[in-house]
Amino acid sequence: MPTFPPSLLLGAVQIPPSMRLALLAVAGVVLAGVVVAALRRHWLPLLRRRLPRAAPVREADDHLKLALWGSGEVFWDYDLIGRRMHQMRADEQSPSSNAITMLTGVGQMPAIHPQDLPLVVQRLRSHLRGDAPQFTSEHRMDMAGDGTWSWVRARGRVVESDASGRALRLAGTARDITASRNAEYEHRVASQVMRSMSEAVAVLDSEYRFITVNPSFSRMTGYDGAEVAGQPLSLLDGRQHPGDGAAGMSAQLQREGRWSGEAWKVRKDGEEILCRIEANMVPDASEQRLMVVLVLNDITEHKRVEQELRYLANYDTLTSLPNRSLLFERLARAVVRARRERSRVAVLFIDLDRFKDINDSLGHATGDRILRAAAARVQQTVGTQHTVARLSGDEFTVVLEGIASPADAERVAERIIQAFTQPLSFGDRLELAVSPSIGISLYPDHAQVPTELLKHADTAMYQAKAAGRHTWAVYSEAMDEKTRHRAILASALRRALERDELRVVYQPRLSLANNRITGTEALLRWDSHELGEISPAQFIPLAEESGLIVDIGIWTLRQACQTLRQWHAAGLDHLNVAVNVSSLQLQRGDLADVVARVLAETGIDASLLELELTESVLMANPDHASGVLRDCRALGVSIAIDDFGTGYSSLAYLKRLPLNTLKIDQAFVRDIDHDLEDEAITSAIIAMARSLDLKVVAEGVETSAQLAFLRQRGCEEVQGHHVSRALEPAQCMAFIRDFDPRPATLAKA
Ligand code: C2E
Ligand code: MG
Ligand code: MG
Repeated sequence: MPTFPPSLLLGAVQIPPSMRLALLAVAGVVLAGVVVAALRRHWLPLLRRRLPRAAPVREADDHLKLALWGSGEVFWDYDLIGRRMHQMRADEQSPSSNAITMLTGVGQMPAIHPQDLPLVVQRLRSHLRGDAPQFTSEHRMDMAGDGTWSWVRARGRVVESDASGRALRLAGTARDITASRNAEYEHRVASQVMRSMSEAVAVLDSEYRFITVNPSFSRMTGYDGAEVAGQPLSLLDGRQHPGDGAAGMSAQLQREGRWSGEAWKVRKDGEEILCRIEANMVPDASEQRLMVVLVLNDITEHKRVEQELRYLANYDTLTSLPNRSLLFERLARAVVRARRERSRVAVLFIDLDRFKDINDSLGHATGDRILRAAAARVQQTVGTQHTVARLSGDEFTVVLEGIASPADAERVAERIIQAFTQPLSFGDRLELAVSPSIGISLYPDHAQVPTELLKHADTAMYQAKAAGRHTWAVYSEAMDEKTRHRAILASALRRALERDELRVVYQPRLSLANNRITGTEALLRWDSHELGEISPAQFIPLAEESGLIVDIGIWTLRQACQTLRQWHAAGLDHLNVAVNVSSLQLQRGDLADVVARVLAETGIDASLLELELTESVLMANPDHASGVLRDCRALGVSIAIDDFGTGYSSLAYLKRLPLNTLKIDQAFVRDIDHDLEDEAITSAIIAMARSLDLKVVAEGVETSAQLAFLRQRGCEEVQGHHVSRALEPAQCMAFIRDFDPRPATLAKA
C-alpha cells in the first residue's frame, strides 16, 4: 500500500500541462466524492443519535430544530398575497444539539437569478395548477442581497387556499447546494475533459491495476475500458522489453509522487509502440488510498522521424556511409584519442579514377549503383572497425586508428588498390573494373587537426592521380608545390591552342611483313612559352580534366590529316596515320561526325586513318564505346586498342568491340629480353589477337632482340626508338622516304 509522498502533500510538484488536464479530471471525481463523504459524516451520526423523549408538541418542535440543524435546510413560508416570506433555520454555530439557536426572519423573497426565473415560475405555476403535487426547483438566489448567487434547491407545496381554491400560502424547505452543484459541475467538466483528451489517460489503483481509461487510451492501445479494468499495467508489456521502465517508475512514484519517461508498450494487436509516459500519484476520494494517473503519448512515429533526421544529418543516403559531418566528428575524436595515447591516425582519401566518364556515359542510376558497390568494397577491405565515409561524388575517406607506423596505412591503401582489381558487380551480371587513387595523410606527422589532415590527404590523392592513377601516395610538403604547379599548368594549357604552342610529331610504324614504314602515330607536343616543353603524360590528363581535350583533339586530328595529305602529295601515298582519342571525345558521342568532317575537309581516304583508344577508355562503358566506334567503322576508319595489357579488359568485351588493331603496351615489350613472364604474356597477347583477327602492333621496341622476338611470335608491326623516335613532319617524311631496311633494324628471327 503506497504512502503519501511528502511533495504531494505539500503540493510542491511541478505538473506539465498535459498532466494538469488529467489531474483536473481526476480531481473533479475526487472532489465529488469528498462532498458525498462529508455529508455522510455529518448526517449519519445525527440520524443514529437517540433523541431524548419529551411532551409531543415540544417534541415536534425539537425534532424540527434538529432536522433543520442536521440537514442545514431552511424552512420557508411564503405569503402569495402579501408577497412576504417567513424564514427559519438553525444557527450553524449552535454549540450542541441540546442548545440549538433558531434564526428567523420575515421579508421579501430573495431575488432569483434572471436566467433561472422563467423555470422557477413555470414550475410554480405547474404546482399551483395542480399538475405537479410538489413545487421543486434548483435555481440561483441572492440570499444575502449582496449580489452573490447561491444555488438553492427548494421544495414546497401549497399549505393554504381560499374558498375558491386559490393558493394563499406556500411552504417548504430549501438548502444551499452551491458546493455540491459546483463539485458536480466540475466533475462533469472533468470527465468531459478526460474523454476528449487526445492523450491516452489511464487511472490505476495503488497495485497498478487499471481502474478506468479514456477513449484515447483505447484508440492507442486497442483495449477498451472493460477489457483492461482490474488488469495489471503489465498487460501492456511486450516480450522484447518486459517491464520496460516500470520498476524505475514505481520506485520514483513512491518517492516523489511522479515519474516520466519513455517505454515500449504493446498494443492489443501485438504492435509495439514507444510511449512517452507521465505518471502521477493522486489520493482517491477517501484520501486514504492512492491512485496512479498515467498520461501516455504514442511517440513511435515522432521517434522514427527524429531518428531519420539524425540519420539524414549524419549519413549519406546513397551508400549508407557516414557523411562529411559525421566523418569530421569521428576524425576529431580519433585525433583526441591519438593525442592521449600518443598513437597515429591515418586519413585515406580515395577517388575513383575516371568516375565522371562512367557517370556521364552509363547514366547516373548506374553510376549510383557503382558507387554503392565501391563503398561496400572499401568497407569490406578495411573492416568495420574503421570509419569509411563518403564525402561527395566518388570521393571516399577512411579513418584508420591505432596506426603504429606510416607503413601500416600504406599497407591498407595497397589492400584497397588490390581489392579493386576484381571488377565491381552492380546488379544483374553487370561488372565493371574501377580503380581508385588514394592519398594518405597522418596525424601527427602531417597535420594536427581534421581539416588539415583531410586537405593533405586530398593533395596526396591528386599526386597519386598524376602518377598515373590506380595507385596511392603519402602526403609530403613538396606536394603542395606540385599542386600549385598543376594549377599553373592548367591555366597555361587553356591558352596553348590560341598561342600556337601545340604541335604534332610523328612516330613511324614498321611493318614486319614487308619491312616498310606503313604509317605513323601522331603524338602531341606542347612547348609552353613560359614553362618550356611539357610532356603529354603531364598535360593530356590536365586537358582531359578541364575538357580542353575536345578542341585539342579535333585540332590534332586535322593536323595529322593535313600532314598526311602533304606526304601523299609528295608521293608517299601508301602511308596511313594513327591518332590518339581520349575518353571525353568518345563520350560526347559525336566522334564519327567530327572524323567525317575532318576527312572531308582534308580529302583523306578513311581507310588511311586509325583511331587509338586506350583500354580504360573503352572499358569504362563498352556498350556506349562500341556504338560510337561502329559509327566510325562505318566511315571506313580503323580502330586500335592502345596500351593493351594495362587495363582489365576481358576477351568477352574485346569481342564486342569493332576493333582492327591491338597495340601491346611498352611495359611488356620493354622486358622481353630478360623477363620470361613478360615474354609469355606478349606471346599470349599476340596469339589471342590473331585468333580474334586483329592486327598486332608492339610499342616501345628499343632493341633488335625485342624486334627479333616479336617477329618470331608473329607480331605484324612495331613502333619504337629502335625504328625511330617521334619526328617533326618534314623530318619524318624524309625518314620514311629514305628508309633503308638495314639488317640491323630488321633483325631476322
Ligand atoms: P601512346 O599513345 O601509347 O604513345 C606512345 C608513347 O610511347 C609516346 O609517348 C611515344 O613517344 C612513346 N614511345 C614510342 N617509342 C618508344 C620507345 O621505344 N621507348 C619509350 N620509352 N617510349 C616510346 P608520348 O609522345 O610522350 O605520349 C604519351 C602518351 O600521351 C601517348 O601514349 C598517348 O596516350 C598520349 N597522347 C599523345 N598524343 C596524344 C594526342 O594527340 N591525343 C591524346 N588523346 N593523347 C595523346
Ligand atoms: Mg597511342
Ligand atoms: Mg600506347
